[in-house]
Amino acid sequence: LNKHLFNIQNLIESTCETIHQTHEDAIITILGNEQPLEVYADEARIEQVLINYLTNALKYSPDNKQVTITRENNKNEVVIKVKDNGIGIPFEKQKSVFNKFYRVEESSLKFQGLGIGLYICAEIINKHTGKFGVNSSKGNGAEFYFSIPIKLKD
Ligand code: ATP
Ligand code: MG
Repeated sequence: LNKHLFNIQNLIESTCETIHQTHEDAIITILGNEQPLEVYADEARIEQVLINYLTNALKYSPDNKQVTITRENNKNEVVIKVKDNGIGIPFEKQKSVFNKFYRVEESSLKFQGLGIGLYICAEIINKHTGKFGVNSSKGNGAEFYFSIPIKLKD
């Protein structure tokens, strides 16, 4: 990892602008704590996690491209959640979606992909000793989250 100090709120905002350049119909709302927060992490890799979560949220929401990003600061970690209003993920498939090459069968018929984006996210967050996961029910959208520790140095 190539860690340095950066403002995570700036990264959230700039990543949304990047996404809007290629997804003109996306409506992304940023909620939660919007105060500046310095974190010590690999900025390019954390950006990649955000981009993968956001592009999935838009891809698997063919009819409603409204996505919210929520940031929470806990005692020792910052939590970022990306929630969509798309097709959702059945409960029994949720534990598998971060596995390499895994794709939910029903969605893979309609949407192109390799099944590798979330696997890369899991690797990046594990290397930061963070947590990640998903909450969803079929047809009710999905909320992917990750956390990274707030600490100034290793
Ligand atoms: P790619 O490697 O191009 O990202 P992918 O999108 O299929 O391909 P992942 O991003 O790893 O791969 O996601 C794995 C699977 O999890 C997807 O194929 C899809 O079935 C499911 N999935 C991921 N994000 C969402 C979401 N926001 N809503 C519904 N299903 C999702
Ligand atoms: Mg993907």
